[in-house]
Amino acid sequence: MKQLIGIYGASGFGKELLPLVREQYPEANLCFIDDGSEDKELNGYTVYNYEEYLRLEFQDKAVVLAIADSRIREILVAKCSKDNIAVLSAKASNSIVLDAVDIGEGSVLCHFTQLTSNIKIGKQFHANIYSYIAHDCVIGDYVTFAPRVSCNGNIHIHDHAYIGTGAVIKQGTPDKPLVIGKGAVVGMGAVVTKSVPAGAVVIGNPARPLTR
Ligand code: UDP
Repeated sequence: MKQLIGIYGASGFGKELLPLVREQYPEANLCFIDDGSEDKELNGYTVYNYEEYLRLEFQDKAVVLAIADSRIREILVAKCSKDNIAVLSAKASNSIVLDAVDIGEGSVLCHFTQLTSNIKIGKQFHANIYSYIAHDCVIGDYVTFAPRVSCNGNIHIHDHAYIGTGAVIKQGTPDKPLVIGKGAVVGMGAVVTKSVPAGAVVIGNPARPLTR
């Protein structure tokens, strides 16, 4: 029997991720899973809520998480693992990964992303279109890149950080990597020239803490 892959999240990112998964897993049956959507169909695919999806009679079921919010991804990973549902990785056909890249489970590499060499990445990493990571970066768990993030060499990004569209992060050095702290948010278009503390929100060029 064919595998059933649910794209978890029938919203903006889900619509973009489904064609990528269809290309990577041509033999699988595909559907969306969404707990908040009223729609029963999206782009020609059925939308189930999680309970409905669990009841479907497929022996081999898996999901790909299509949700940018890393805290929600963490909750959904725990839920799926309780139900023995695998959370798959997805990688676009033209995403480039060079040498010595170690990447954890559940990663999503969208079209035109690039990971160069000697990079370590934790679990459930999401890189949206056109983002890159250069050499000797260390990326934690549940890190999220919006489109076109430029992450240069020798940068360390800790768990649950979110990097906004078009942000550029200056390279560090082997003895002094530039560090983006746990749960930090880098705003769209920010030019990050120095380390960002855990939990901080930085914007602008050069990037500075957002003051409310
Ligand atoms: N969602 C869900 N279960 C959850 C949390 C979120 O199905 O426990 C769905 C939510 O209903 C929404 C989608 O995930 O349709 C997240 O979409 P959103 O537009 O917030 O984000 P994006 O597509 O940009 O990641």
